[in-house]
Amino acid sequence: MTPRSVHLTPAHEEFRAGVRATLAAHVLPHLPDWERARAIPRDAWERLGSWGYLGLLHTTDDLFRSVVLLEELGRTGYSGFRAAVAVHSHMATHYLAAHGSAALKDRYLTPAIAGTAVAALAVTEPQAGSDLGALAVTATPDGDDLLLDGTKSMITNGTTADFLVVAARTGQARTGPTGVSLVVVETATPGVEATPQEKPGWHSAATAELRFTAARVPASNVIGKRDSGFYYLMRGFQLERLVAATLALGGIEHCLDATRDHLRTRHAFGAPLASRQAPRHTIADLTTRLHAARHLTYDAVRRLAGGDLPATEASMAKLLTTELACEVADRCLQLHGSPGYAADSPVARAHAEARAATMAAGPSEVMRDLIAAALLDHP
Ligand SMILES: Cc1cc2nc3c(=O)[nH]c(=O)nc-3n(C[C@H](O)[C@H](O)[C@H](O)COP(=O)(O)OP(=O)(O)OC[C@H]3O[C@@H](n4cnc5c(N)ncnc54)[C@H](O)[C@@H]3O)c2cc1C
Repeated sequence: MTPRSVHLTPAHEEFRAGVRATLAAHVLPHLPDWERARAIPRDAWERLGSWGYLGLLHTTDDLFRSVVLLEELGRTGYSGFRAAVAVHSHMATHYLAAHGSAALKDRYLTPAIAGTAVAALAVTEPQAGSDLGALAVTATPDGDDLLLDGTKSMITNGTTADFLVVAARTGQARTGPTGVSLVVVETATPGVEATPQEKPGWHSAATAELRFTAARVPASNVIGKRDSGFYYLMRGFQLERLVAATLALGGIEHCLDATRDHLRTRHAFGAPLASRQAPRHTIADLTTRLHAARHLTYDAVRRLAGGDLPATEASMAKLLTTELACEVADRCLQLHGSPGYAADSPVARAHAEARAATMAAGPSEVMRDLIAAALLDHP
């Protein structure tokens, strides 16, 4: 099997073929039901764990195996599913693996890798999204415990999670980057309440608002050093942005594949649409840009895997891929004509869902600010 990039080996492509076949047989047929149910069912999480997909980031140091998995999750064409799995496997659990104590890893990371416990990352609040200095959820010391109060919003896996990695203020400061900790909170804790949030897409992501009312957790549930959460998040965001970029690459590929099939089989004016120059050039242009975006993303992953923190490149990859995904979905919908606008059409779904990825994990404007700051303020 010829690898699609110099960063991949035949073994990666073999792994891809296995993931693709497994998802096609055991996941894709169920996704419409999971979308309707607004959640991935428990037994499916356990199956994902048994295939080894939930622990790739933690059980191997080969980051390109994660890239392959994330691209294939994206290629399912269901952003809610891909987000739910990626937030669990590559975002929430990343903080536990990178900074958590042995006891926290035993209690939460091990079952998360097995798929017997579902994880969510709760950072965003109704009044604090891009501006994390405005975080207001507090975790107030009370004996050997912390009492959590406040509200988180738009939390993927919010209704299904067994535990949350919550960014909360443990220090004196009420604004700014200091005094924020990452705290593991079990969702069964009294004082934790999840309310589903409806969206135009991403349905199986089980998105929820989470309210904490004097929710008591042991102080030993703080991940790493107390008050260092902001620093952990800033480092973790490089991985998060590359995860978002890689998922988007898979989504773009899915959309272009569906459109190529449509153009070959749909006849108009006596010939397949694929014979006309305008659609041909559209496919050529978009696929060329997909390749460029993939190489930018892979190169940033290579640097991250080498111990570097490719902050600017991660922002570039996130910006380019998620915006390209919107454009691809829009152009592909046009090329499908009215069948593309049917409720169950993959390009209609991509059109509705691609938009959220330019906001989640940091909006495009923030990515541009970060890139511009690196180029102009401290080159
Ligand atoms: C589908 C989905 C799933 C999500 N899942 C999670 C999750 O699991 N956990 C979690 O913690 N969060 C999650 N989020 C929240 C996500 O991380 C936030 O949407 C993101 O951080 C942006 O915050 P905000 O939406 O509050 O937008 P705001 O920060 O209010 O920004 C709104 C808009 O203002 C503009 N803007 C913001 N800052 C700047 C700036 N500096 N310069 C110029 N313009 C700017 C941008 O256009 C931006 O889109 C999710 C969001 C979505 C849509």
